[in-house]
Amino acid sequence: MHIFFNLHTHKDGEHPDGIAVLDCPLGNDLPSSYYSVSLHPWMLLPEKLDQAVDFISHNHLDKNFIAIGECGLDKLCETSFDLQTVAFRQMIELSEQYEKPLIIHCVKAFDELISMKKEYLPIQPWVIHGFRGNPIQAKQLIQQGFCLSFGPKHNIETIKNVPLWAVFTETDDSDCPIDEVYRLVASELNISVEDLAGIIRNNAIKYLKLAI
Ligand SMILES: [Zn+2]
Repeated sequence: MHIFFNLHTHKDGEHPDGIAVLDCPLGNDLPSSYYSVSLHPWMLLPEKLDQAVDFISHNHLDKNFIAIGECGLDKLCETSFDLQTVAFRQMIELSEQYEKPLIIHCVKAFDELISMKKEYLPIQPWVIHGFRGNPIQAKQLIQQGFCLSFGPKHNIETIKNVPLWAVFTETDDSDCPIDEVYRLVASELNISVEDLAGIIRNNAIKYLKLAI
């Protein structure tokens, strides 16, 4: 039986055969499944940032807490870009300190994101979630060591050209179930769902240190 691994979702317990990384809202009880914690750039306020840092520092030993995210940079949202940058830097530092990969939200700020990666030279993997960019952007990011996670809406040419060792799949907040995302991506790649599941399982073991 193959496993459907969902890198990023906001819905708990979506697929019976799946393993998901739930985006855990601050202030909620700790989930009994794998989860990530951070602050979305849209939700960012200085006092919430302190709360997020406290939460991460207090709970970093929880075995289900496997990644910091989603966090990142978004030039189309109302939050000041300076505050976003301060917050993202803090999340990068926590990711390195507690050895948890970053799940990144990035909109129209890829130059800034790449220069931060060059500046920090992080040990932890950086995964860009919900990637919809074109093959050229994807190539540039892969060359800088990023992983890319694809949801139901993505650029087909990109998925066809990206090296599969850097690929994840996700549902995010869409109603499309993860097994459908696998079927869609597998058909675009002209491989079987089983093969895709094996590749993504290996990526989850390698980059997220999951014992699955
Ligand atoms: Zn999300």
